[in-house]
Amino acid sequence: MKMSKRILEIQPSATISISAKAKKMKAEGKPVISFSLGEPDFNSPECASKAAIDAIRRGESHYTLNSGILELRQEVCNYYKRRFGLDYAPDEVLIASGAKPLLYEALQMLVDPGDEVLLFSPAWVSYVEQVHLAGGKDVIVDTLKTDLIPTKKAIEAVLSDKTVGMIVNSPSNPSGAIYDEETLKMIADVAREKDLWIIFDEIYERLVYGHAKHVNILNVAPDIRDRVIIVNGASKAYAMTGWRIGYALAPKPLIAKMNTLQTHLTSNASSIAQWAAWGAIKDADPDVEKMRKAFEERRSVILELVRQMPYVTVRDPEGAFYIFIDIRETPVPDDMKFCEKLLEEKFVAAVPGTAFFAPGFVRFSYACSMENIREGMGRLKDFLKAL
Ligand code: PMP
Ligand code: GLU
Repeated sequence: MKMSKRILEIQPSATISISAKAKKMKAEGKPVISFSLGEPDFNSPECASKAAIDAIRRGESHYTLNSGILELRQEVCNYYKRRFGLDYAPDEVLIASGAKPLLYEALQMLVDPGDEVLLFSPAWVSYVEQVHLAGGKDVIVDTLKTDLIPTKKAIEAVLSDKTVGMIVNSPSNPSGAIYDEETLKMIADVAREKDLWIIFDEIYERLVYGHAKHVNILNVAPDIRDRVIIVNGASKAYAMTGWRIGYALAPKPLIAKMNTLQTHLTSNASSIAQWAAWGAIKDADPDVEKMRKAFEERRSVILELVRQMPYVTVRDPEGAFYIFIDIRETPVPDDMKFCEKLLEEKFVAAVPGTAFFAPGFVRFSYACSMENIREGMGRLKDFLKAL
C-alpha cells in the first residue's frame, strides 16, 4: 500500500518511544527506573479535579466553542495580566488539546513549503517534525558552544531570504536553560529587522529555580506583539499532562486562523478538561509552588549526585525539570549507544541528546520520586565506573 512521503519521513517522538519501551520492560518485570518522559509525577491539584467533577455533574458534556470556553480563555487572559502584565482579550486566546497541537497549528498557519524555520539546539523533539509536516525546512542554530544560549552571530550566520520565523523555548527542554533579557531582546531585534515571526513556547515558565527569572519576550520587546505567538499549557505547571490542555495567545487574526484549522482537526479540547484547567489557573498557585519547591530539591540532589560521577559534566539548569549531561568524555561518547547500554545493563532509561540535535549529551528528567533519583543515579555511577 502506498503511504505518503510525509508520513514515511516522520520520526517517532524519541521521548515518547523511549518511555514506552521503559514501561514495557517494567511490565515484563524488569526493575526499570525511567528518567525519560518529561512528566510531573504529582497528581493534578484538587481544585482542578473539583472543577472537572462539578462540570461533569452540571452536564458539560457537549461540544464547546471551538476556540474553548470563554471562562477559560478569560482566565488565561487574567493570568497573563497578573503574571506578565500583558493585555490579551479572550478572542486572542485559543485553547487546544495540549500545547503540541497549538505548535502544529501555528506552523501550519505560518510555513509554506521551502520556508526555513530557525530552531535553537538542543531543541525539543517535536519542533523539527512539525516544521517538516508543514513542508518547511529546519535550520539549526547550535548553542552548545555558547553555554546553551544563542548569540546574534550564530543566528545571523544561518539567516537566508527563505527564513520566515523561529521557535524560541525558554525555559528549554531539554537543557533547562533560561534565556535572559539581553538574549530575548537580541532575538526580538532579529525578528524585527528581518521581518520574522516567533513562536514563544514557555510551557515551563512556572518551573524556575534559585535566582533565575523567567522573562516573557514581550516584556522586553512589547512592540513585536504582532509577530509573536505565545504557547503555554496546563501540562507542566499544574501536573495536568493527561488532561491535554494548551493555550496560545496571539493577535486576533492569527488566533482566528489557527482556530479555523482546529475546526477541521480536533474541534474543541475536551469540555471537562477545559473546566479542570480553568480551576487550576484560578486557584492552583499554592500547589504550583509546592511542586516547584519539590522539583528544586530534586534538582539539587540530582546535580550533586551527578557531580560525583566520573567523566560526565553538567551545566546548572535554571528551569524545567531536566538535566542535560555531557557524556562526550566517557568511554561511550555515542549517546545512542550510551542510552541503550544503560537501559540494558542497569535498567535506567534516559533520552539521547541526538533526539534534540545534541549528540554526546543525555537528558534525564527529574520529575520522578527522590527515591528513584537516588537509586537511578547510583546505578548511573556504577555504570560509568565500570566503563
Ligand atoms: N513544548 C515543550 C518544550 C514540551 O516539552 C512539551 C512537552 N510535552 C510541549 C510543548 C507539549 O506539551 P503538551 O502537549 O503536553 O501541552
Ligand atoms: N515534552 C515531554 C518530554 O519531552 C513529554 C513527551 C513529549 O511530548 O515529547 O519528555
